[in-house]
Amino acid sequence: METSSATEHIKSLIYDLSLSEIKTLFTSWREKEFRAAQLWRGLYKQFWQSPEQFTNLPKSIKQKLSENFRFSSLKPIRKLASKDGNTIKTLFRLPDGPAIEAVLMRYEQRRTLCISTQVGCAMNCSFCATGQMGFTRNLTSGEIVEQVIYYARELAARNEKVTNVVIMGMGEPFHNYAATMDAIDCLNDHSGFNFGERRFTISTVGIIPKIRKFAEQKRQVNLAISLHAANNELRSSMIPINNTYPVEELINACRLYVAQTNRRITFEWALIQGVNDSIQDAKDLVDLLHGLLCHVNIIPLNPTDNFDGQASSRKQAQLFQAELDKRGIPCTIRLRRGIEIGAGCGQLAASNDPV
Ligand code: SAH
Repeated sequence: METSSATEHIKSLIYDLSLSEIKTLFTSWREKEFRAAQLWRGLYKQFWQSPEQFTNLPKSIKQKLSENFRFSSLKPIRKLASKDGNTIKTLFRLPDGPAIEAVLMRYEQRRTLCISTQVGCAMNCSFCATGQMGFTRNLTSGEIVEQVIYYARELAARNEKVTNVVIMGMGEPFHNYAATMDAIDCLNDHSGFNFGERRFTISTVGIIPKIRKFAEQKRQVNLAISLHAANNELRSSMIPINNTYPVEELINACRLYVAQTNRRITFEWALIQGVNDSIQDAKDLVDLLHGLLCHVNIIPLNPTDNFDGQASSRKQAQLFQAELDKRGIPCTIRLRRGIEIGAGCGQLAASNDPV
């Protein structure tokens, strides 16, 4: 006999369904179409999290919903707040056991979420904690969506709203392309969460075929590329996938993206003392990005367990920035937030320590 938790396992997650899939489902249940819209609004406007909360739906539908769907797959098991309380990292347990992390950052009027697309990551970048833990599995679109809805619900209780979503948590989003785009589409739906595409930023290590596909789709979502080095020798030593998708081809794909979308592209550069932080490194970067509509985001390296490199000094970061600036490439040094709770870039790892 199956245990109830085993039955829960095989139920689909309600957030995995698009509005049109819910409509089709309700038709197959011989329910009226407007009922599908009621369910959608309850999920994405009220953030209801169990069928019983849908007091506007008849009992028969609520029963079918609870028999066939789970309304949550993320169990918050640990919450850490930075000293100033403005950065909050939540560790969620998934139904099949592994855990993921998502981060809320409050900054002035912004409420930015950093969400995950995979359990672990297969890219194995040397300086990244997620890369160091290896790959377990892709998240489903619903599991990606639920991270946003979880925080939206928490913020709503304080009369606040999510303003930005950065897909920069655990995993390589272009290695889980379809689920990531489905999640964006679901959150973008105007009759539901209605979150504008321009308020998403997706960051990729540089999976060229997917950058091309993304360019063809002409989405309004912001694109960031984790570059970190301007030549193949250095980049491959930090980012193994560079052996498959070398720098020149990556930049060509970025040029194509800008040409097709007319959108500015962001390059991320984790600044590591003595590795990629010299004035010559900055000059090489300027040459590489010549004529490209772009912006460079410098991130002084955040500490991770299995990487020895050190962050560059503030002064070196400013010199690097000044060199780019001088040659006409806009560049910002990203504020470091939540480092003490392991919530900075490249620090998400969801250790399975007892909590
Ligand atoms: N896999 C995607 C999404 C992760 S985004 C990508 O690579 O873009 C996380 C960002 O933080 C990436 O730019 C990543 O290269 C960067 N990063 C990883 N480890 C870091 C570290 N220790 N310090 C600063 N940035 C880091």
